[in-house]
Amino acid sequence: MKKIGITTTVPVEVIYASGNMPIDLNNILSSGEVDKYIEIAERDGFPKSMCAWIKGIYGVCLSEGVSEIIGVLEGDCSNTASLIEILKLKGISVVDFSYPKSRDLEDIKKNFKKFMKSFGVSQLEVESWRDRLNIIREKVKELDELSKEGKISSKDSHLFQVSCSDFWGNPDNFEKEVENKLWEARQKKSQEKVIRLAYLGVPPLAEDIYEYIESKGAIVVFNEVQREFAFPRWRNAKNIFEQYLDYTYPYGMDFRLEKLEKDLELRQIDGVIHYTQKFCHRILDNIVLKDKLTYPFINIEIDREQKLDERTKLRLDSFIEMIGDML
Ligand code: SF4
Repeated sequence: MKKIGITTTVPVEVIYASGNMPIDLNNILSSGEVDKYIEIAERDGFPKSMCAWIKGIYGVCLSEGVSEIIGVLEGDCSNTASLIEILKLKGISVVDFSYPKSRDLEDIKKNFKKFMKSFGVSQLEVESWRDRLNIIREKVKELDELSKEGKISSKDSHLFQVSCSDFWGNPDNFEKEVENKLWEARQKKSQEKVIRLAYLGVPPLAEDIYEYIESKGAIVVFNEVQREFAFPRWRNAKNIFEQYLDYTYPYGMDFRLEKLEKDLELRQIDGVIHYTQKFCHRILDNIVLKDKLTYPFINIEIDREQKLDERTKLRLDSFIEMIGDML
């Protein structure tokens, strides 16, 4: 069994079907010493003015002995495509994968079949893993639903959903932890009269944001991208192709907004936090989101810090206070 590094959500069903283990390098980075990994990249020539995730993933690959990764050439980030080229130079083998820009089912089928061929697996084997992982996704979906009532902390909701990118490389263990958390959450009373926030954008490096928000009398009841990693709408899909067609992260803004507007209404959101990573091109999404969404809105931007800085805390304080005054 090989450990296969991934830099974003890819069809892990294919990797599991091949008997290998997917490891999300982002999760190693965010739970480890970010500065140490970034320094490795900067020593090798990565500029200061580059996103911390990219540099961190490079550092993780080199220092944790990752020998093979999935290179997502379309549907992730142009920086990832350049990173892949550098990792190849360093002797890491790369299996290519792309989400087609067109978001056309036939194009998706073509790309997925190529990916399955790279791992020597059939669609039948992949579908069998899809069934297995969707059982776990359904449990994570229940956790997400319980977060609406504040029965699970905003941070746990974030962590369990973001972990659906690789299921910790061990779906059985992951499922047990999800079940434990579900049991705990079901016993709790619903929280009332709290400010209900949505978190949009890439998952945070500064994970203390969730605890900080809760300490100010608000909770995050919707984590946009993390929730997409957990495929909450899997039941609508008849096969692996349709399931990944209905995944907003790799595609354009129109599709993302279509899902987002419905979800925010259903979750009865009081305000939106849009998190952006410094030096990330996705900062431009801010312009569209701010224009299209009709909720109180704040954009916070963070570089490599794993803890919120005082200025960001102050801005969050004012934002939450302002919403509190409006309710
Ligand atoms: S934060 Fe932005 S620039 Fe960095 S890896 Fe993610 S999408 Fe790319």
